[in-house]
Amino acid sequence: MTYSIEVKQLKKSFGTLDVLKQVSFDVAPGEVIAVIGPSGSGKSTMLRSLIHLEDITGGTIRIQNQSLVDDGRYAGAAEIRKITDRMGMVFQHFNLFPHLTVLANLELAPKTLKKESARAIRTRSMELLAKVGLSDKADAYPANLSGGQKQRVAIARALMMQPDILLFDEPTSALDPELTGEVLRVIKQLAQENMTMMIVTHEMSFARDVADRVFFMDNGEIAEEGPPEQIFGAPKLARTQTFLQRVD
Ligand code: ADP
Ligand code: MG
Repeated sequence: MTYSIEVKQLKKSFGTLDVLKQVSFDVAPGEVIAVIGPSGSGKSTMLRSLIHLEDITGGTIRIQNQSLVDDGRYAGAAEIRKITDRMGMVFQHFNLFPHLTVLANLELAPKTLKKESARAIRTRSMELLAKVGLSDKADAYPANLSGGQKQRVAIARALMMQPDILLFDEPTSALDPELTGEVLRVIKQLAQENMTMMIVTHEMSFARDVADRVFFMDNGEIAEEGPPEQIFGAPKLARTQTFLQRVD
C-alpha cells in the first residue's frame, strides 16, 4: 500500500515550546481527513510541516513513499522540491497576489516553471475558473472580489499545479458566514473527485459530511481519531466531548 502521507513520531518545537509531540498517522490515496481541535493545539504547524513550510525537530514524513524527512534528516533541496510539488495548500487568508489579476494569479506558478505552453496553461486556468464558478472574474483583481470568491480563486490556483494532495488550513475562518457555503461546496466537489485532502476546520457539520476520518488534536498530539460518526456521535475521550460541546 502506497500511502499519500505517512507521518511517524513527528516532533516540532519552537525554542522550548513542544508544539507537536510524537504525532503519527497515515493518509490513504483519496482519503479526506478533517482536523479539528482547540486553538494552539498544533493543527497549522502539522499541516505546514507536511509541505515543508516548517522544519520539523524530529520524526519522519513520507509523501507517496518518498521521504521528505527521515528520522529528522531532510532530503536534498531538489528532492524536497519534487515532493512538495505534489502538494498544494490553501490558507485562511487566501494569500493572493494583490497586484495580479485572477488569471495571472492562477498562471504565475505554472508559467514560472516553463514546462508547458502558455496555451495549455490558459486552457487549464479557464477550466479551473469555471470549476470554481468564477469564469467571469478572470480579469478582476483580488481587491474587487468577496472573501468567498478570493478563496475560490486560491483553490483554483492551488489546482493549477495539478497536486495529488491538498492541504486546507481553516479555509472559511476569515469569511462571513453567508460566504462559507460557496467555498465548502468547492471542497466537497474535490472530495467527490477523490482528491486526497487534509482540512483543518471549525465547520463541524462540514467535517461530518465530507471527512472519511477526523483527527482531534489537543495539546500537540492527535488525541483521538476515527470516522466522523464516532468522533461526533460517540467520542471516547472526555476532552473530545468537552471540545465538541464548546464549539456547538
Ligand atoms: P493551531 O493551528 O492549532 O491553532 P498552531 O500550530 O498555530 O496551532 O500553534 C501551536 C503552538 O505553536 C501555539 O502555542 C503557537 O503559539 C506556537 N507557534 C506557532 N508558530 C510559532 C512560531 N513560528 N514561533 C513560535 N511559536 C509558534
Ligand atoms: Mg491554526
